[in-house]
Amino acid sequence: VTQPSPSIFETLESEVRSYCRSWPVVFDRARGSRIHDEDGRTYLDFFSGAGALNYGHNNPVLKRALLDYLERDGVTHSLDMSTTAKRAFLERFQDLVLRPRGLTHKVMFPGPTGTNAVEAALKLARKVKGREAIVSFTNAFHGMSLGSLAVTGNSMKRAGAGIPLVHGTPMPFDNYFDGRVADFLWFERLLEDQGSGLNQPAAVIVETVQGEGGVNVARPEWLRGLADLCERRDMLLIVDDVQMGCGRTGSFFSFEEAGIVPDIITLSKSIGGYGLPMALTLFKPELDVWEPGEHNGTFRGHNPAFVTATAALDTYWADSDSMTKQTIARGEQTEAVLREIVAEHPGTGARHRGRGLVWGLEFDDKGWASRASARAFELGLLIETSGPQDEVLKLLPALTITADELDEGLRTLARAVRQTAQ
Ligand code: PMP
Repeated sequence: VTQPSPSIFETLESEVRSYCRSWPVVFDRARGSRIHDEDGRTYLDFFSGAGALNYGHNNPVLKRALLDYLERDGVTHSLDMSTTAKRAFLERFQDLVLRPRGLTHKVMFPGPTGTNAVEAALKLARKVKGREAIVSFTNAFHGMSLGSLAVTGNSMKRAGAGIPLVHGTPMPFDNYFDGRVADFLWFERLLEDQGSGLNQPAAVIVETVQGEGGVNVARPEWLRGLADLCERRDMLLIVDDVQMGCGRTGSFFSFEEAGIVPDIITLSKSIGGYGLPMALTLFKPELDVWEPGEHNGTFRGHNPAFVTATAALDTYWADSDSMTKQTIARGEQTEAVLREIVAEHPGTGARHRGRGLVWGLEFDDKGWASRASARAFELGLLIETSGPQDEVLKLLPALTITADELDEGLRTLARAVRQTAQ
């Protein structure tokens, strides 16, 4: 094993405070599902830029489109002006994503990151309904700004705000009752109960699979129940598809399988396709209440990201069935190995769960996942943890990973877990 490079903190003299993940190397180059550090060591990537690289690192088709655009001096800045790059993206997004799914949502560019998409969704919902409360779920993750943090169910993240946050009301996510069937009767009762403190909410925000929260998968019927409740009780339904959208669960949007149509949808991470910052807030036409200038900013509608996003849609979503089939097949391949790993470790509470190409592996020993992640790194695999106590290994390979690469990564993971057990 190559000696790890000194951390950035040790090599920089200044007091730069940076949020670095704990991998003790400096990364340099990457292509497809492989990333290299500056000392020439190669890692297989099951992290994919926290879900921002569904099409792999430096995807050659996207790279070509970007280089062509730059070479012809395409507009690169990001103000919300009309550009050919923006028009091309909107046309393709409409033709390949919205229309085939019967969606009539309007598209806005709220800023560069997923947090911006969520913040815009919450702000819009409150303006439309003229109410302030937003219902969110236990273990949800929606971002770091004050509004998005208020609907994030992670105490460590919330502590970053220092003082209590306002306007978020948490409710139990589908897995909260350990697999026992939960319906929404209790939720309705609270809405009716004048003394419950739950003022009529403007909206409910939900992830169909909680990524940061520990790969908690909502059942389609639970999502349908939630959508139905939102409709009956005059609350807008916001699906935060920042991490699970763009094909991660198989379909382009993660809620398609449940057959629901959210009022507002957030997308970011892999929509730009190349790791370039880009975020979208989609909303039903009747929610289009903002006057021009009521929600704006400098870095939104990033033109180079429009170019790579358009290339990604053309390449992978013109035939969405084959993209979905491939993702489901890779997911089945993943699940088969996870099942073997679980069977190999009886008495540890080992369990796995997931959908499409996002999977979680958990043990009763809450420190296991972090130790296994560190061991996997030493064996040449990047894999992150998730969950409130970092107790879940989260598998997030590129959707474009080959079956052989996936197998290699899964075998490395199995070895890492085994070596952690000893
Ligand atoms: N929503 C979800 C579901 C996320 O997973 C994330 C990022 N992990 C965000 C919002 C925030 O996105 P960003 O980090 O780009 O601001």
